[in-house]
Amino acid sequence: MSTVAAISTPRGKGGVALIRISGEDALQVCRKVFSPASGKDITEYPAGKAVHGYFYDKDGNFDDGMATLFIAPRSFTGEDTAELCCHGGNLVQEKLLKACFMAGAVPAGAGEFTKRAYINGKITLSQAEAVGGLIDAHSERYLHVSLRQLDGKMSEKINSLCNDLILTAATVYAFIDYPDEDMTDMSVPDMLTRLNKVKAELVSLAGTHKFGKAISEGIPTVIAGKPNTGKSTLMNLLCGTDRAIVTDIAGTTRDVITEQVKVGDVLLNLADTAGIRESNETVEAAGIKRSIKEIEKSTLIIAVFDSSSPLTEEDEELVSLLKGKEDRVITVLNKCDKECRAQSPLPNPIYMSAAKGEGFDKLQEKILAFAGAAEADTQDIVVSARQYSAIERALENIEDAINALDGFTQDIAGECIERAISALGEIDGRTAALEIVNEIFSHFCVGK
Ligand code: GDP
Repeated sequence: MSTVAAISTPRGKGGVALIRISGEDALQVCRKVFSPASGKDITEYPAGKAVHGYFYDKDGNFDDGMATLFIAPRSFTGEDTAELCCHGGNLVQEKLLKACFMAGAVPAGAGEFTKRAYINGKITLSQAEAVGGLIDAHSERYLHVSLRQLDGKMSEKINSLCNDLILTAATVYAFIDYPDEDMTDMSVPDMLTRLNKVKAELVSLAGTHKFGKAISEGIPTVIAGKPNTGKSTLMNLLCGTDRAIVTDIAGTTRDVITEQVKVGDVLLNLADTAGIRESNETVEAAGIKRSIKEIEKSTLIIAVFDSSSPLTEEDEELVSLLKGKEDRVITVLNKCDKECRAQSPLPNPIYMSAAKGEGFDKLQEKILAFAGAAEADTQDIVVSARQYSAIERALENIEDAINALDGFTQDIAGECIERAISALGEIDGRTAALEIVNEIFSHFCVGK
């Protein structure tokens, strides 16, 4: 494989920048761009030791810094690797990277270092995803979940379930091949018990994915209501001091700005229909009608009504829009600091004063409950959609296997268990197709 190089620290000016080089020629490339201040050759130093020295390109020395060599297979990627730490000026970093290219390295692709670590068997696919999670984590919980996954805890759990399935499959096949002999200690009811146990564990793991998504990607959310009910006030309350990144979420139209806010460990991707962004639209268009599209697209709808004045046709219009979506709606009756003149048009409302912050704790509780925080009260949480889909497929096959065993079609049961094993194998990459592997690493940035 070629020797690659990339800047691993974020682009822009900083105190220091780190350039990573990995591949067969990493040591040669390093020697061409770096000389230890001691005058020795860098390879004379022990691996893993940071050595002070000078960086060079064809025009001579341009910076000083540190270089550390890691020798295969004892490196992150499993290949010979050099880490060069130079000053974090834009020009300095660029010059050093260019010098590495001149010395024989080629630019690294997105996620290339982590991908090589996976290919060289240093980490599993779920650990590679955990590296991504660790870098993206913005809450303690997400960080904790990613660390456990990186530590291989999720893999251990999946492996142990896989082993149970392998044992059951072996027993099923022994039954088929030697029907008259007492080959195993496991009876059909024993096999069913084992399969049901694996199934229960997988159901519980799958149940954590809603929360896993909520802490990583965030929940697409809209605050809906007619004008003047207090949507902007509520949005500001939610943004609070935790006001996060303003992003153009990929896949949405450019004019829908999404505000990402944190409620506990959960992220809400709030579509801006709350009137924060003034537009040229008429008041009517800026009201409920403007929210229709967002209501359809959102997973969570916070419906806001003004409790201090009787409900109007427009409120009713919103209520009818929400028919059939009740399990995705949190109803807020706002302005409860004033005299109450409206009955809640929807069940289980939260009485709030967005202006005074009253009732906000109740809203936060409901949001966390909606995000599945209770179901995810375990250490292992399925964050990745890819892992979730593999678990779901394993579950379908286990259910089919259970039905087949019940119906005495043991050969079918065996096949279904094998398919379940293969689906679970995808989680760590043992049975993952190349396209899936490429897809995962394409989401990483260069230098990771
Ligand atoms: P939006 O049009 O739904 O975004 O509503 P705004 O957030 O702009 O609020 C409309 C008006 O209601 C403003 O004058 C707010 O100060 C006021 N308001 C918002 N929330 C409350 C509240 O909880 N109590 C009271 N008394 N007034 C509020």
